[in-house]
Amino acid sequence: MNAPALPFKPLVDQFHRRISYLRLSVIDRCDLRCTYCMPERQTFLPKSEVLSLEELHQLALGFIARGITKIRLTGGEPLVRRDMIELVRALGRQVGDGLEELTLTTNGTRLAQFAGDLAAAGVRRVNVSLDTLDRDRFARIARRDSLPAVLEGIAAAKAAGLSVKLNTVALRGENEDEIADLIGWAHAQSCEITLIEMMPLGEVDGDRFDHYLPLTTVRAALEKRFTLTPESHRSGGPAHYVRVAETGGRLGFITPLTGNFCEGCNRIRVTATGQLFPCLGGVEQVDLRAALRSADPGAALAGALDTAMRIKPERHHFAIRRAGEAPALPRHMSMTGG
Ligand code: SAM
Ligand code: SF4
Repeated sequence: MNAPALPFKPLVDQFHRRISYLRLSVIDRCDLRCTYCMPERQTFLPKSEVLSLEELHQLALGFIARGITKIRLTGGEPLVRRDMIELVRALGRQVGDGLEELTLTTNGTRLAQFAGDLAAAGVRRVNVSLDTLDRDRFARIARRDSLPAVLEGIAAAKAAGLSVKLNTVALRGENEDEIADLIGWAHAQSCEITLIEMMPLGEVDGDRFDHYLPLTTVRAALEKRFTLTPESHRSGGPAHYVRVAETGGRLGFITPLTGNFCEGCNRIRVTATGQLFPCLGGVEQVDLRAALRSADPGAALAGALDTAMRIKPERHHFAIRRAGEAPALPRHMSMTGG
């Protein structure tokens, strides 16, 4: 597999933001059906539309040649793609050779099976999504009874030497009363944890707004139980961090709705069909699959990436409202992987 020959030209958008972080979705399918993410009867893409392993690899190399230093593989659920680990191995070979970090976001259900392979391939950190430690709640939120597999996956990842960060979507009436305990549990496991506000991406069964919980409310409640000291640490991402004095651990807040974080945005997202979304909250897109499959993929990809830099918007305009009052964006988070 050869990278298209691209002249080095860093990815810089019209607001002078240097783009160095790619979230690459390898599949839109998932073995869970989290209620805030997708409907029970989600329509998945025909497999023929999804990029092949070679195309994903070629694309990733093209991005590295344009100065992308961090790649996060995501989905859907990345670990349900059968040849996923081959891609991880191929990209793992780039770590230290253009790529500084290769990471993964997973729901954890198959982590017990793959943690050793991921670590051996050069992955050092994984993000695992975990919204509750209560098995019945988990089965309600994810619509699958998979909490034991996820906990086993987290333990296996740690045993394999991977650093594990937990991501938790704050959900009114679902895990609101459990967030402080989740933080305590995560920190007792030496895991960082980041709380995320629900975003209006794609239609789901029911009204997302019923479970939208602003992190301003969560933080105020947490401050009654914990001493939170703001930290200067930035992961290069949208999270703001605090240190929790009582646990000694780090807690992140991702607040797309209550606190815009676009100013320092350094990332772009590519779906499993090769659609580049320069903004998670925007409709702008560029077709990289067409570029890859053109007669001169190197030149076409270079042109497509330049276009992406021209159209990346200054900021997202997410607004979460009752269903009917404002439509969600026309794609699910499982397309772009968060
Ligand atoms: N399946 C993997 C997982 O769950 O970690 C990777 C893909 S998932 C789309 C990535 C992250 O997006 C997860 O942490 C999930 O909780 C979050 N997510 C999904 N839909 C969301 C939404 N509408 N608003 C905010 N976060 C969402
Ligand atoms: Fe699957 Fe992740 Fe979406 Fe849950 S959040 S349904 S695990 S893609």
